[in-house]
Amino acid sequence: SSNDRVFNFAAGPATLPESVLKKAESELINWRGSGMSVMEMSHRGKDFTSIIQKAESDLRSLLDIPSDYAVLFLQGGATTQFAAIPLNLCKPDDTVDYVVTGSWGDKAFKEAQKYCKPKVIWSGKADKYTKIPAFEDLEQSPNAKYLHICANETIHGVEFKNYPNPKNLLVADMSSNFCSKPVDISKFGIIYAGAQKNVGPSGVTIVIIRKDLIGGAQDITPVMLDYKIHHENNSLYNTPPCYGIYMCGLVFEDLLQQGGLKEVEKKNKKKADILYEAIDQSNGFYRCPVERSVRSLMNVPFTLEKAELEGEFIKEAAKEKMVQLKGHRSVGGMRASIYNAMPLAGVEKLVAFMKDFQARHA
Ligand code: PLP
Repeated sequence: SSNDRVFNFAAGPATLPESVLKKAESELINWRGSGMSVMEMSHRGKDFTSIIQKAESDLRSLLDIPSDYAVLFLQGGATTQFAAIPLNLCKPDDTVDYVVTGSWGDKAFKEAQKYCKPKVIWSGKADKYTKIPAFEDLEQSPNAKYLHICANETIHGVEFKNYPNPKNLLVADMSSNFCSKPVDISKFGIIYAGAQKNVGPSGVTIVIIRKDLIGGAQDITPVMLDYKIHHENNSLYNTPPCYGIYMCGLVFEDLLQQGGLKEVEKKNKKKADILYEAIDQSNGFYRCPVERSVRSLMNVPFTLEKAELEGEFIKEAAKEKMVQLKGHRSVGGMRASIYNAMPLAGVEKLVAFMKDFQARHA
């Protein structure tokens, strides 16, 4: 029952709105009189067609996506897009620029090396990925086909609060802050995101791409990575991740019902504010290494001054039904992911626990 549910601070797959899970449960074995589950439907039948079309149109409303942009529902995770983007936008000798603000941007850069000539024009590695560059410091390559950023680094907790002006196109991995706030889509050539943080289960990858960028894929591009094929077939070239798309659709509906992304952003800011404040006002007992102005609203990494207490912190939190607070294995410490679906009550409970833990261990 819902009473058994925990506050799940996982980075992804992550917590989903309980109302969405309940709705899915209520129509799990018989979707709206069809006599079958969405899992059992033909992806070419009229029922699933209505599901995917509604998901797309609700996402378009949420993000105010202009009509010259296509929305694709794909598979393979954001990781597959690390290859698909250079394959679709570049020839092998083309230069592209990567701003590397964390591990995900670095992975994207490394994958692109197989398909074009990417260049890291800024890296936060020496500062342990706690910063976003000043845009005037970026020395973009004159002929770069695109400038790639990771809008929110899930592991390090650094988030772009505004966006650089690219020489050519801006491409952004928005996996971990997708639909967490309004975005001016027209600033971007491509936005892509794995669904499993803010908008659904893993298995769905959303690509929002300006239509004129579709159709130039390298000859070696696998059919599954060619945007043209997916666009021409309305994401139904092959069997799509039907159930995942349905779940994303329920989440989009829920976000619209909340009043859209401006409202969602307000809630996210409030949650992040109280958590960062608790960290900053702990007299160093807790510490967040990220530069204040670029702290993520979604992923809040923090360390304990007494690192030897981390295990105890995690154990005690779990006893109080707050789970998945361990930091990524590459950085250690803690990380609280507080995506759209994390209720304010969950963050308030965590903050109260942190204060109490400090009082007992300071
Ligand atoms: N990019 C970011 C910012 C992420 O947080 C993740 C996390 O999983 C990925 C890319 C990789 O996504 P996927 O696991 O969907 O391939």
